[in-house]
Amino acid sequence: MQPDEQKTNLLEFDREGMEAFFREMGAKPFHGRNVLKWIHKHGVTDFDSMTDLSKPLRAQLKEAAEVRVPEIVFEQPALDGTHKWLLELDCNNRIETVFIPEPNRSTLCISSQVGCALDCSFCSTAQQGFNRNLTTAEIIGQVWVAQRELDRPLSNVVLMGMGEPLANYDAVLAATRIMQDDLAYMLSKYRVTISTSGIVPAIRQLTRDSEVSLAVSLHAPSNDLRDQLVPINRKYPLEELIPACRDYLRGDKRRKVTWEYVMLDGINDSDRQAKQLIRLLEGTPSKVNLIPFNPFPGTEYRCSPMERIDAFRERLVRAGIVTTTRKTRGNDIDAACGQLVGRVKDRSRRELKHSGGLAR
Ligand code: SAH
Repeated sequence: MQPDEQKTNLLEFDREGMEAFFREMGAKPFHGRNVLKWIHKHGVTDFDSMTDLSKPLRAQLKEAAEVRVPEIVFEQPALDGTHKWLLELDCNNRIETVFIPEPNRSTLCISSQVGCALDCSFCSTAQQGFNRNLTTAEIIGQVWVAQRELDRPLSNVVLMGMGEPLANYDAVLAATRIMQDDLAYMLSKYRVTISTSGIVPAIRQLTRDSEVSLAVSLHAPSNDLRDQLVPINRKYPLEELIPACRDYLRGDKRRKVTWEYVMLDGINDSDRQAKQLIRLLEGTPSKVNLIPFNPFPGTEYRCSPMERIDAFRERLVRAGIVTTTRKTRGNDIDAACGQLVGRVKDRSRRELKHSGGLAR
């Protein structure tokens, strides 16, 4: 759909924003709530089908607004049921969204930026450079499109696709509010997860603004190693990151921080590092998610052998830390962690190092 620059995209609004928009039009805010429900609960984008709005209000809306959803330019199902969509936002920007079905849940992994500025050494999204933040409409639009395409409701949304969600704070926050709204996707705070590389001031701000689940890309038990793997650590080191995450739980006994830890052969996977990790997480209610490294063209890292991953996990479990190993999903279609690249034409930071593969 071609954007009409004059018209406001109603996908941009959470409940509060929608009410304000209607108020500004001289209409009652409850019409805004109805429209939110039409769009997100019923998937309706055409104002004439919103039967509880009066004809004059529909006409007014058609003049001022539209519901503009991202366009699917390519889609690919994987052998294991994982499904990847390449979505076009405008002529320069494409992003990837991945659906991961499991027997007892169906998770959508969405992107928050086109590319990423953070430069983590083991992530292929980082190799693309950074182009721009997504708008709220583009973030929630991924959920909208997936819900239209799927024949089952989503049970979980994770902001673990392309980009650093907390570097696009306002748009991400509004989108998570729509996900949680009873008039929209009705996902509980436990079923919406923001994953961050550890931008401490934004984690502190999120503690005031939201209760969604928090996952943190830890990947190393010490500053010297984390400085290399996740360079933002040089700005916000572990002694600031860990307390900020602990405080995020606000003492709620049912909650834990999820720590993502990519298993890199010979880099971060030794018994000594497992012990260091146990010490680091002491006093913070934690879940550790070990992620087998997904290689991409040009990388020098290798995934730890399965026996090493098992031994590492065993150590953490024996210390009383809930630890799971993430199943690699959709890797036959480059949809696994760190393999999402979308297409970033305007690379502000670096040249694309590799070519080939899907969606590049
Ligand atoms: N920027 C956010 C959101 C991205 S989430 C963050 O860093 O948390 C994507 C997850 O996949 C992160 O935990 C990331 O560290 C991990 N990841 C990146 N590249 C990977 C790779 N090649 N193999 C496995 N996991 C990877």
